[in-house]
Amino acid sequence: MNKRFKKAGVLGAGVMGANIAAQLSNVGIDTVLLDIAKPVSGNQINEENKKIRNSFALMGIERAKKASPPSFYIPENAELITAGNIEDDIGLLKDVDIVIEAIVEDLSLKRGLFKRIEQQLKPDTVVTSNTSGISVADMCEGLPKNFREHFAVTHFFNPPRYMKLLEIVKGPDTLPEVIKTIVENFEQILGKRIVFAKDTPNFIANRIAVFTTLNNIRMMTELGLSVEAVDELTGTVIGFPKSATFRTTDIVGLDTLVHVAGNVFRKASDDEKRNIFIPPELIKVMMGKGLLGDKSGHGFYKKEKDENGEKVILSLDFNRM
Ligand code: NAD
Repeated sequence: MNKRFKKAGVLGAGVMGANIAAQLSNVGIDTVLLDIAKPVSGNQINEENKKIRNSFALMGIERAKKASPPSFYIPENAELITAGNIEDDIGLLKDVDIVIEAIVEDLSLKRGLFKRIEQQLKPDTVVTSNTSGISVADMCEGLPKNFREHFAVTHFFNPPRYMKLLEIVKGPDTLPEVIKTIVENFEQILGKRIVFAKDTPNFIANRIAVFTTLNNIRMMTELGLSVEAVDELTGTVIGFPKSATFRTTDIVGLDTLVHVAGNVFRKASDDEKRNIFIPPELIKVMMGKGLLGDKSGHGFYKKEKDENGEKVILSLDFNRM
């Protein structure tokens, strides 16, 4: 097995999936992007209804087109992406070389989706998950041997066009030639640098990063610091990215952060700092108010226009919400 990926399927058109699809299209890979179907009234199949049913995937492509910094090298690359939905268009996966799953961070949903697509694929289609830290072995449990042999984790970082790092985690049955094919395509064609991780909760990057983020939130409330002060202290001055703690959290999405923290809490029962992975009260309050970050238009920061129409960035005063 030594092949160049020419056609791909991406499942989930949210923060990661739509932008992974954009990066695949940037390097000339035809990509099918499927999200859940939006229900329509009546059962008439026509162009208008099809558009409505595909609207989650279509919206993902539109967000990627508007992303700043840009997700597409040139906007025309979006034409290489075919939008669809998992109910009507699963057959579009029949001739793809690789499927990258990027749906919500939930083991049973991911495994359920793999069971659903498995019979549609060519025997040598590679399937990978973009999970931030769910066990590879758990995700492919109960799936046929051939699926397990062609399955691994390819964990992209956000934003996928710009972040060079890619974690690869193999499962108990992944064939060595499958990993070789993934490495060759993702290093030489997508331009990633690969770090191999073991199948432990949240692998390497998120075991450290999620701990740091949640610890910073606790320290902020204990010490009475502001959101901006924490970002000053945890950004470039200590060699972290300039998005620091809270700009990064807004980009990731608070719901995803909570799911990913839960991976460690559930699985790493002997971690001496396990309780850090329980979301602090502030996170629960923000989730309750829908302050999820960029995806909901408001998180620790919010972009607005002032009375002169100039862009201003407000930060959350968590004492008064
Ligand atoms: P998201 O919530 O932005 O998007 C998830 C998308 O999946 C949604 O559009 C949803 O409608 C769709 N979806 C849910 N169930 C589906 C199904 N059964 N079939 C098809 N589509 C379905 O999530 P995200 O931030 O893009 O995260 C996706 C995955 O990538 C997660 O596993 C997450 O842990 C991982 N990840 C996220 C980031 C990040 O910064 N957000 C970074 C690296 C990895």
